[in-house]
Amino acid sequence: MTKFLTPLGEIAITVLGHASLLIRWEGRNIFVDPYAKVADYSKQPAADLILVTHHHYDHLDKFAISKIAAAGTEFVASTLAAKELDGAKALKIGEELSYEEIKIKAVYAYNIENKAETGNPFHPRGEGNGYILDFGGFRVYIAGDTELIPEMKELGIIDLAFLPKNLPYTMSDDMFIKAVETVMPVNLIPYHYFELNEKEIAKRLPKGVTMHVK
Ligand code: ZN
Ligand code: ZN
Repeated sequence: MTKFLTPLGEIAITVLGHASLLIRWEGRNIFVDPYAKVADYSKQPAADLILVTHHHYDHLDKFAISKIAAAGTEFVASTLAAKELDGAKALKIGEELSYEEIKIKAVYAYNIENKAETGNPFHPRGEGNGYILDFGGFRVYIAGDTELIPEMKELGIIDLAFLPKNLPYTMSDDMFIKAVETVMPVNLIPYHYFELNEKEIAKRLPKGVTMHVK
């Protein structure tokens, strides 16, 4: 668990594995992309809010969701993912909503280089979401399944970034480092990886970026 102090109070972050996160804030449990393959969700607390970045099976897992959903659980998802979740709010790229005092904004997440055999990118532009969670000015960027994309230059100050690192769906090590250099987060948590050469990545990080690996 990694803790950060924000103007809205402490947030405690657990990377459950792959792209699955639990953010505890003021007694609320906020889950991102719960995925039963990486954690036993029957042992997790009830969810107050579940964020789903996109509809792929490793991000939208109804079995995992069934274990943590309770009366009153709110869902925020990409347009396609929201169609599969009863009562989910679809958040389009660029749109923002509030969950209590937290502002949640959907941002682009997509592939440019990496394509499926059909010739289409694994993640077409505009289909899936990344999210920025703003805790009273402490801004958390959850990149989703994305490569280095030009829109990363326009995110503003990021206090904590979750960036994915795996091929062919997201980024190579080299691209990951370039993405870090582009976003320049104060804190960095790599996620969605199959392997992570932590020492090698740490050596290549730009100054001013602190990496946290669970
Ligand atoms: Zn995906
Ligand atoms: Zn994925």
